[in-house]
Amino acid sequence: MNDPWRPIQDIASDVLAGKTTAEENVKEALKRAKADEFDCMLEVYEDAAIACAKEVDSHVKNSEYTGRLVGVPFVAKDNFLVFGGKTTAASNILNNFEAPYQATAIEKLEQEGAICIGKANLDAFAHGSSTENSDFKTTKNPHDPTRVPGGSSGGSAAVVAANIVPFALGTDTGGSIRLPASFCGVVGYKPTYGLVSRHGVIAMASSTDVIGPLARTVGDAALVLDVMAGEDHLDGTTIKRSEHKYTGFSSANVTVGVVKEHMTDGVDEAVLEKVQSAIDKLKTAGVTVKEVSLPTSDLALACYYIVVPAEVSSNLARYDGIRFGYSSEKAKDLNDVYEQSRTEGFGDEAKRRIMIGNYVLSSGYYDAYYKKAQQVRTMLISDYNKALEDVDVLVGPVTPSTAFKIGENVDDPLKMYLTDIMTVTANLVGAPAASVPIGNVDNLPVGLHISAKQKEDSKVLSLAHKIQELLK
Ligand code: GLN
Repeated sequence: MNDPWRPIQDIASDVLAGKTTAEENVKEALKRAKADEFDCMLEVYEDAAIACAKEVDSHVKNSEYTGRLVGVPFVAKDNFLVFGGKTTAASNILNNFEAPYQATAIEKLEQEGAICIGKANLDAFAHGSSTENSDFKTTKNPHDPTRVPGGSSGGSAAVVAANIVPFALGTDTGGSIRLPASFCGVVGYKPTYGLVSRHGVIAMASSTDVIGPLARTVGDAALVLDVMAGEDHLDGTTIKRSEHKYTGFSSANVTVGVVKEHMTDGVDEAVLEKVQSAIDKLKTAGVTVKEVSLPTSDLALACYYIVVPAEVSSNLARYDGIRFGYSSEKAKDLNDVYEQSRTEGFGDEAKRRIMIGNYVLSSGYYDAYYKKAQQVRTMLISDYNKALEDVDVLVGPVTPSTAFKIGENVDDPLKMYLTDIMTVTANLVGAPAASVPIGNVDNLPVGLHISAKQKEDSKVLSLAHKIQELLK
């Protein structure tokens, strides 16, 4: 579909200036969401969104609004609690769950005048890399509908790539914003751990979960981050903003480190070439580029797939058929309520992670697996910071390939897990990271991965912005 959207800042200033209205923007987005040919959306909040837009317009008319996102429609991944419809996490166990309160991130966006028009598909509970683990449907990649959009925020990346809305929200526990951004050719931003409140977002793995934007440009992503970032008394892991503003870019004197372990045989040659040519563009533009090493990077994936399932098994324990969501009617006694509700409500991937998580946390195996993984995590953090001693940011591919075919990896969980090999380190370290589009290979988008030290979000955004400008 053609592209009706301008930069978010311009959409908002047009509404404030009376050139367009929130209602017109929301109706345009709703029309597009309803015509969605890629199965991006799980629910469209038609009446609620129009009512919200009318309210925004009346505030604008009475000059009561100066919000930076006035009249800008957006879509949230369906693991955000949002009023107006259901919140399912794409799992049967939450099939009829309605949010009793709203996520802080949604509240902050609404305070600036943005309007949520509905929910995007995801891998159930955000476990996956393709949206094929959704209990409801598989989203298709707008660049090639026979291929996956990436995951787990695949619906959020696809709604932006398909021009349904100018931005969407995703969550990233091991790469779930950056991977789909790379596969769909949009900008995906994973902030420093704790910079955006997780309150009101369905937990996957609490020590690595973060919330971030998927958008058409780095400027748009930075603006959305700017609105959402900051401490929240409802989430004790939130941190103070390190910047007054995340929207000012300054890439002067930024030194770039190319992670040598990520530029290897395991990555498709054409993807490597694209990444190398983006790096060459930076060099030509006068940026200092060095090679750096992350010697423990081969341990990152193994570490992730122990720590994360351990936390997943603990977070999913609250779905017991009593307090939340689906409760089996077949159950005869209390134990049966737990067992049947979970058997029928959880999909295969959630069950797999619960099994792995309980195994690595069980008393006989805790030292051998969970404790060891936590020790490796400490090594990763120290290696990561060492790699950044002489450079400001690290770059490399986001993932080894372009979007794969729907069904290609679905029966091979290990192959699916390997797509995360270059993204999980940033999550284990709590570091900020982005995927920025750098062109196509055989008509399929490729992203460049950029990361920095914790709280150095501005460095990542500034380099991402520079690359975007150089590749224009
Ligand atoms: N693909 C990764 C996983 O399945 C990442 C998920 C995520 O970031 N939510 O664990």
